[in-house]
Amino acid sequence: MVAFDSALHGFCASTGLALDRLAWQQAQLPVAIGGLGLRSAVDLADVAYIGSRVMVLDRCHALWTPAAWEGSAAATASLLLAVHVLAWKTAAGTDDICRLHACAADSADTVLNLVPSRILNTNLSKDDFLTCVGGRLGVDICIGGGACRFCGLAIDVKGRHPQSCMAGGDAVALHNSLRDLLHGYCARAQLRPQAEAPGLLDARRRPTDIFLRGATGLLPALPDGSRPAGPSALALDVAIINALGASHWDDTLRGAHDAVTAYAQRKRDHLGTASSCQQAGILYLPLVWDI
Ligand SMILES: [Zn+2]
Repeated sequence: MVAFDSALHGFCASTGLALDRLAWQQAQLPVAIGGLGLRSAVDLADVAYIGSRVMVLDRCHALWTPAAWEGSAAATASLLLAVHVLAWKTAAGTDDICRLHACAADSADTVLNLVPSRILNTNLSKDDFLTCVGGRLGVDICIGGGACRFCGLAIDVKGRHPQSCMAGGDAVALHNSLRDLLHGYCARAQLRPQAEAPGLLDARRRPTDIFLRGATGLLPALPDGSRPAGPSALALDVAIINALGASHWDDTLRGAHDAVTAYAQRKRDHLGTASSCQQAGILYLPLVWDI
């Protein structure tokens, strides 16, 4: 088991990422809570032993009725995981914990579960893979010290500024591609979406990326036959944030989804957008993605 763990560590080292002890311990955590799922055979040995006893318990009873067993594999696994996470957090700094929260958010592991396909454009390049894994484990993936050529702010070694910078057009292009994707889905559903609809609140403001008039038509009748009540229109506002960016770091430190939730609320509150829409009979719905 020690040899297996050592080989696994060696495999990670072969990627070129310089994993320190903390990063390696994070890699051994389950993907769902921010690790890479490279579970240690040594750590899992006890759970595997208990699990094997559970699997053969019925046969043991058949051979010898008094056979009994007092353990629970699931409880032991949960306890061991809790101990592992606690040990990691004890050794980690505040920024490491913040990063773990960001990696533990729903769908944050999607990129790790992609089936490589050139046709579906899900084939990660080596650089894509190293950026993804390195960023997840807090490894230095950029040459820091220089200034961003778009906004002039300092480039950090963790690569967070390039993922957060709003200058240069990448963030806008990503936003627009996501908006267009949603617009396409709405159009295919015959919802007659209107992109960047003008004049919903006043002549200068466009609080929505996709406007759906008569959105309650999605539900033409309630089970009792009556028409659904509520806003007659839906305003979808697309936003993309980096949970580890300077503007969202404090929120992410509180919890895995706090940055997304807080930014959605910030958009609702901005210039009273949500309340103004409500007065106009429009449900304002910010859709915030974390990258
Ligand atoms: Zn910049």
